[in-house]
Amino acid sequence: MRRTAPIALLLFLLLTLPFSASPALARGQSLTLPKVVERGQAVLVRFTTPVGVKNAALFFLGKPQPVVQVGPGKWRAALGADLDCQLGPHQLLLKVDGRDAARGRVKVVEKDYGVRRITVSKKFMSLTDKQLAWHKTDLAAMKKAYALYARGPRWTKPWLAPVSGESTGSFGRRSVINGEPRSPHGGMDFRAAKGDPVKAPAAGKAVLVKDTYFGGLVLLIHHGAGVISGYRHLSACLVKPGDLVKPGQVVAKVGMSGRVTGPHLHYDIHLGGARVDPASWQKLSGLLAAGK
Ligand SMILES: [Zn+2]
Repeated sequence: MRRTAPIALLLFLLLTLPFSASPALARGQSLTLPKVVERGQAVLVRFTTPVGVKNAALFFLGKPQPVVQVGPGKWRAALGADLDCQLGPHQLLLKVDGRDAARGRVKVVEKDYGVRRITVSKKFMSLTDKQLAWHKTDLAAMKKAYALYARGPRWTKPWLAPVSGESTGSFGRRSVINGEPRSPHGGMDFRAAKGDPVKAPAAGKAVLVKDTYFGGLVLLIHHGAGVISGYRHLSACLVKPGDLVKPGQVVAKVGMSGRVTGPHLHYDIHLGGARVDPASWQKLSGLLAAGK
């Protein structure tokens, strides 16, 4: 009888210690990571926590990634590597109920999206002071929007396509204009006519509507969990910041505003601030919604 008290104490310590020793996995916890992620792609992460945990967050490069709870103690997350993400291994941190619960490593590798070499008139190559100041306000407004994070997704179903047109599959392509390398194409272009309806691919909240220098009229929607979709070169926007949107709701009209040569929809996806291929996100949104 005398021995039961120390044994119970030892058992108690053994069961509770892993929770306080931050990098070790606690009982009931697991973290399944892909070994690599290509630049500009989103990949699935699975993890479990003790049943009853309500708050889990996954950080990659210090940014919260979209996390979805799919059952008691069962979680899925997406991990996105930006198009210009530094190559090599990066640390990932899982936090459970606000505490460091596990760490892992994922290696970011290069992906070849192709290069487009174009020559344009010199007058399009440099901006006037006024245009530059305008562009800076665009960048600041977008940076603020891309940093938004709200726990839990607003969407529950696989995402839809924003327009019925065909995509040109040009995500990630690097442009060399008059011999100068420019930033890679951060979205996907869809063939569409001026005035064609643009539909919200999933439930969310409009967070930015702005007439921008390069992107023309831009709409950004936050879908929760740090997933932001963007629509550029619009001719009209039918929602305002703060409006909640339903999947399939017509939110804008295709146009050719900003620096473009013809009407089309530029559609982009940011995860935790990283630009990822909308096609890879589309696939992942289905897996997340199905709890796979
Ligand atoms: Zn585009």
